Amino acid sequence: MPVTPALEADVLRRQDPDVADILSGELARQSTSLQLIAAENFTSPAVLAALGHPLANKYAEGYPGARYHGGCEYADAAERLAVERARSLFGAEHANVQPHSGSAAVLAAYAALLRPGDTVLALGLPYGGHLTHGSPANFSGRWFDFVGYGVDAETGLIDHDQVRTLARVHRPKAIVCGSIAYPRHLDYAFFRSVADDVGAYLIADAAHPIGLVAGKAAPSPVPYADVVCATTHKVLRGPRGGMILCGAELAGRVDRAVFPFTQGGAQMHTIAAKAVAFAEAATPAFAAYARQVVANARVLAAQLAVEGLRVTTGGTDTHLITADPAPLGVDGRAARARLAAAGIVLDCCALPHTRARGLRLGTAAVTTQGMTQEEMQWIAVLLGKLLRGDLDPARARTEVRELVAAFPPYAR
Ligand SMILES: *Cc1c(COP(=O)(O)O)cnc(C)c1O
Repeated sequence: MPVTPALEADVLRRQDPDVADILSGELARQSTSLQLIAAENFTSPAVLAALGHPLANKYAEGYPGARYHGGCEYADAAERLAVERARSLFGAEHANVQPHSGSAAVLAAYAALLRPGDTVLALGLPYGGHLTHGSPANFSGRWFDFVGYGVDAETGLIDHDQVRTLARVHRPKAIVCGSIAYPRHLDYAFFRSVADDVGAYLIADAAHPIGLVAGKAAPSPVPYADVVCATTHKVLRGPRGGMILCGAELAGRVDRAVFPFTQGGAQMHTIAAKAVAFAEAATPAFAAYARQVVANARVLAAQLAVEGLRVTTGGTDTHLITADPAPLGVDGRAARARLAAAGIVLDCCALPHTRARGLRLGTAAVTTQGMTQEEMQWIAVLLGKLLRGDLDPARARTEVRELVAAFPPYAR
């Protein structure tokens, strides 16, 4: 199947070889190296086809049936279908599929529920909070008064006692649960009880696990949170973008917070691509995929521990693993560079209660490629050899190239 109609027809190459070279270089990079970035995935050719469609030309400010522009009959149909599919996939009363990104979804959630200066309780950034959870470099840290909870120094698990105590002391207007690096399921019922205890809204930022939720491989925040923010491009495997789910009583506030408060015209081609991804995520094949993502992550985490890395919380419930490579004699940054030289692409991350950087990796992309437990084992062993300095990165690069050649993300 062609990756995109435009590339296949080679119109881009004939008109603009510079850009065409860059794009084919990127496709080659994605298909010849190992994608272990926890937030990335390979969208289907159908999702890419929607993204490359002239629907991208359409201006459609507003919502279906209430647009500021003419000619919106197909834009309306695309958005209604995406909303319907999201509601049914997640069992939510209301869905807004317009946020341009996960961060835009969080901004809109805050705009719907908070006023500048309000107190918000969220996982602190050193423990895996996202930029939008109170970073001083982000609007959230400037416009709201964030209080951070953390994880236990021994277990790496969220410190529930601290969450409850901080909530009682600071009486936040909202509590945020969700993380860029926490590998375990969140106890949404617990966060709901704390929010009820202090009269706070509960915002679940499920950007990472929402794809596992869709595949029923992780608990859903929808029954517990007032507002659920998510991305559509991580484990969910859709186009780059955001989404908000909420109950009927907050629907109007959430919609107005997205448009016109924080965004203008929505990207209608992306919304069509979101609809395609939601339909894919509703299939038994996607549920099997989600279970395999977790099974793969469990094996990868276990073997990384055997190789001597210190795996945070001792394992994972999800697609995501964080680990400290220090016992092998390298810090996170040096480890990432050495692995990159071998064609293994992953991130560094903060490690709770240390100043050291760790490694963050995930199995969403490699599982889409069809890799299973056997390949995870192989990858962890290779990683161990590289980090211990027992294997030359150039040799490893050849081995990685051979492995991924057997699992092409896109057929040519
Ligand atoms: C990825 C992520 C986001 C932001 O998504 P973008 O699309 O990059 O803006 C927000 N919150 C959490 C917890 C995330 O993991």
